[in-house]
Amino acid sequence: MRIDTHHHHKKAGENLAFVFFMNLAFNIIVVIGALATNSMAILADFIHDASDTISIALAWFLEHVAQKDSTDKYSYGYQRFSILGAVIISVFVIIMAFVILQEAIPRLFAPEGVDAEGMLIIAVIGIIFKSISVYRLHRGETFNEKAILFHQLGDVFEWVAILILSLVLMFWDGAPYLDPFVSIGIALWLIFNLGRNLYKSVEVLLQKTPDNFDVREFRQSIEAIEGVNMIDDFHIWSLDGIDSVMTLKVDVDFGKDVAEIKKEIYNISNRYHVVDITIEFE
Ligand SMILES: [Zn+2]
Repeated sequence: MRIDTHHHHKKAGENLAFVFFMNLAFNIIVVIGALATNSMAILADFIHDASDTISIALAWFLEHVAQKDSTDKYSYGYQRFSILGAVIISVFVIIMAFVILQEAIPRLFAPEGVDAEGMLIIAVIGIIFKSISVYRLHRGETFNEKAILFHQLGDVFEWVAILILSLVLMFWDGAPYLDPFVSIGIALWLIFNLGRNLYKSVEVLLQKTPDNFDVREFRQSIEAIEGVNMIDDFHIWSLDGIDSVMTLKVDVDFGKDVAEIKKEIYNISNRYHVVDITIEFE
């Protein structure tokens, strides 16, 4: 079991490294392309793709670091590093998206010429690069790989949209405002998605009860155990948005088999991705 897990992570590391370098190379093409074509839509995509590259680098790094065992200094291990990373990336991309809006909105009223043929070439390169990444990750088994796979798949469609835009610009002279219009759409989409991501990440850092955890249902199933009188004190918080930590003080009838009660509590909490649980009986 353990050897198997390590094997998955090693393979995941290799896949993510490959996708990271693909994205990095693509970022360089896109930023040159954005400047050469004068397209705000491609520039907005560059912001998106650059944030993807940073996210992939972080995921790749975390495949090593987050698996590392806890230490005396970080007794919970390194899982929260991924949440901190998400906060930093989200803030950065939201700021960049506002910069795009600031540039693109005036252009709606005074459209500038763009090189539609150049945009078409970059869109084709984009579709190829993103498709190769999707192919490389499609058999991935770890959470990080799957998350990035679905994201990259969405990105393929984003470049298909740019391809359609470039064709429209090529054949329809009256459409130069479409380029800033599309870039505003991309910027708003980034602000919305990363804003939501930021909100969720901050909730985890503030030790909010995990979203999928029903406190009432949990209390009821614990208090239904024979020998348990009631839960006196209860806390649950998530380390990284997936794995949670729980502490609870339970008022029990000491005439009952306490070890059995403990076992049942473990069984119930196992349903909720609880990786560490502290139980006190009183
Ligand atoms: Zn993306």
